[in-house]
Amino acid sequence: MADVNNNAENESKKGVDFIRQIINEDLKTGKGTQQVQTRFPPEPNGYLHIGHAKSICLNFGIAEEYKGVCKLRFDDTNPSREEQEYVDSIVEDVRWLGFNTDEKIYFASDYFDQLYAWALELIQSGKAYVDSQSAEEIRTMRGTPTKPGTDSPYRNRSVEENLELFDKMRKGELDEGTCILRAKIDMAHLNMNMRDPAMYRIRKASHHRTGDKWNIYPMYDFAHGYEDAIEGITHSICTLEFENHRPLYNWFLENVAVPCHPRQIEFARLNLSYTVMSKRKLLELVKENYVSDWDDPRMPSISGFRRRGYTPASIRRFCSEIGISKVNSLVDINFLQFIIREELNSSAERAMAVLDPLKVVITNYPEGQSEELEAENNPANPDAGTRMVPFGREIYIEQNDFMEDAPKKFFRLAPGREVRLKHAYFITCDEVIKDADGNVTELHCSYDPATRGGDSPDGRKVKGTLHWVSAEKAVKAEVRLYDKLFSLENMDEMEEGKDYKDYLNPESLIVKESMVEPSLAACEAGKSFQFLRQGYFIADVRDHSAQHPVFNRTVALKDSWAKLQKK
Ligand code: ATP
Ligand code: MG
Repeated sequence: MADVNNNAENESKKGVDFIRQIINEDLKTGKGTQQVQTRFPPEPNGYLHIGHAKSICLNFGIAEEYKGVCKLRFDDTNPSREEQEYVDSIVEDVRWLGFNTDEKIYFASDYFDQLYAWALELIQSGKAYVDSQSAEEIRTMRGTPTKPGTDSPYRNRSVEENLELFDKMRKGELDEGTCILRAKIDMAHLNMNMRDPAMYRIRKASHHRTGDKWNIYPMYDFAHGYEDAIEGITHSICTLEFENHRPLYNWFLENVAVPCHPRQIEFARLNLSYTVMSKRKLLELVKENYVSDWDDPRMPSISGFRRRGYTPASIRRFCSEIGISKVNSLVDINFLQFIIREELNSSAERAMAVLDPLKVVITNYPEGQSEELEAENNPANPDAGTRMVPFGREIYIEQNDFMEDAPKKFFRLAPGREVRLKHAYFITCDEVIKDADGNVTELHCSYDPATRGGDSPDGRKVKGTLHWVSAEKAVKAEVRLYDKLFSLENMDEMEEGKDYKDYLNPESLIVKESMVEPSLAACEAGKSFQFLRQGYFIADVRDHSAQHPVFNRTVALKDSWAKLQKK
């Protein structure tokens, strides 16, 4: 363990966060003989989101740094909302992030027998009782933060009566809602969580793992600390809303003989701008078809980010750089975009795609002729090599790269002006062809054969460089431009009376019928590219094929984050 302590000291010189400081302290003051053990405990009632990623990186990250263990444990104590699909997706997402590759997976439901035994122990020692009041009665008797609660008339049932009733609850002989098992603590406690909290309720539902074995299911506050204790967790890290539950967490552990007493530590959850993170809301967006599925690239789910083209490294770096704190705050989504842009800039190959095609005929280029021009794959990485791009008499450029009445500062194509076609030639616009309604349908240009490769032989300068594709050889592709899902920066600051769905951004998805260079059609699904002058795109893992190429925009090129930072 000397190893671990050294490691911890090195860390503290760099300035460690408050959780690592607590762990370092615990290791120094006697608990140092223990191996640090953490856990990530999702409820399998939805897909994981970027907030969960923060918790995963923290818990698994700490285990890695301290040469400890982090357990992936499903908190599957509520049978009615949980499904195997969620379990599978959560395991996939955690592994995709780069954690828990060959660890055993744990389930709270594996501990139901032990939890039940501890409930009996609490009843036997007079510390738990069966309450037969209605839910409504229990609620009103609980008091308020400023007014103490009132003891239930059933609070002083004998141990025998409690054991008998609890047994009936377990066997399914009592109806749902007729009674619950409560801890007997203090109805006048200043902390409302300590006013005889529920431990078990009757639920005659089938559980995804235990089937119909149980008619009662444990409550989170009762079960969670015991699950931690069974697994030998040393530091049970959770979000701030559980701070007021810590005395209860400790009370349960102190009142039966548990194998160890883990320490609960709270940190602020991640909130991201222009995003909601509640699983209930995300599920609603899926169920009501506001998005295509949990992995819709607009979703803040881990699977959504993956399909959008984010890498595990980018999400881990994001989680590490935002740090942890005790105060809730809002993280700018631009920061996440900045990180993926920076990563893809060095890793993604360049390619040309024209999202809104405008045909250009190069009138002095011989008819029937074509050629292959060499293009570098990544200027940021010469090892990425080059590829050949077909060029011909007819090409497409972007509609917005041409303007008929262009102001001086418009450094693209306009009548009489010359621009460079990337990797190809200089062209000059000679003639604008329009349809009957006056829309520009085609441009007639001439090229300078001496500028092959995009070089200027006589030092002649052009201000603009355009991307393009060969009209003959380019391939049609569906390009999906994604933007923020919501239009409000802080979704906790909605106007009164408004629903979060009122803030859905109607332009969060724009689909373009585009023309892309032929090499792109042949690419594997899941491969990322920089489309020159447009942004970073990934071949969609679900829908892309050589017959029907589909690309999702990960992030646009514009580096608004760097600009913000400069300000
Ligand atoms: P919801 O309230 O939307 O159902 P939850 O927090 O209850 O979400 P869980 O499946 O219980 O979801 O979460 C598993 C773990 O992830 C918990 O330890 C929780 O603290 C943590 N977590 C959830 N959301 C965030 C977040 N936004 N930031 C950091 N950690 C989070
Ligand atoms: Mg929860």
